[in-house]
Amino acid sequence: MRKKIVAGNWKMNMLPEEAEKLFNSLLVKKDWPENVEIIVFPPVIYINQFSEFKDANIQLGVQNFFPRENGAFTGEISITQVKACGAKYALIGHSERRAFFGEHEAFLKEKIDAAMTHEILPIFCCGEPLEIRENNKEKEFVKNQLVQSLFHLNTQQISKVTIAYEPVWAIGTGKTATIEQAEDMHRSIREWLVEKYSMEIANEISILYGGSCTPDNAEKLFACPNVDGGLIGGASLKADLFTQIIESH
Ligand code: PEP
Repeated sequence: MRKKIVAGNWKMNMLPEEAEKLFNSLLVKKDWPENVEIIVFPPVIYINQFSEFKDANIQLGVQNFFPRENGAFTGEISITQVKACGAKYALIGHSERRAFFGEHEAFLKEKIDAAMTHEILPIFCCGEPLEIRENNKEKEFVKNQLVQSLFHLNTQQISKVTIAYEPVWAIGTGKTATIEQAEDMHRSIREWLVEKYSMEIANEISILYGGSCTPDNAEKLFACPNVDGGLIGGASLKADLFTQIIESH
């Protein structure tokens, strides 16, 4: 059975007091839908503090890490530090890291491998920029992202991965993919998983949609047969909106 997941990517937002308030407002709520895993990706500086709430319904993840255990990498956070501070998940391949920090396929593959070694669960983000979609090349583009950074994993490893399809043109733009566009890409991703691995594996892997997901469109998106939840940016910064999205499942 595939897990339903709603994850909030806070990006580089929230000062300590605001972060604590937002996290607390999620913690105090006890009647979350039972079948949905909720994950929060706060700025890494808050992970240690938030991870004190070990028995909470909310899982923690990091938006980034450096794929080494330690060493002279000034300013970076190692995979072992991430693990020791209580993170369970890590985002890998987010389009903002690809675009602003030059994270390319080979480096993302290293990050995937480090996550596997240290038992951090990856949420691997893929998705095409606008010009690629305008040229009808989005399938080729997304498949290539998966092949380059993910499809070297063995069967046991790939089953630990969650995939997030996030068309770049929909991230933070208020322009969501249509239900048809989202389902079509999610179905293709699942078919590629069948081709590369097996039907059984493909049916185990959750594929999330990300890109201007809000309480207004979440229900319809999550009702698509191949959409298993969402990776939420902007709307995860407001407790009421994030809650409504989780409850749309
Ligand atoms: C994201 O950055 O992963 C994202 C989906 O952002 P937004 O919801 O703001 O489009």
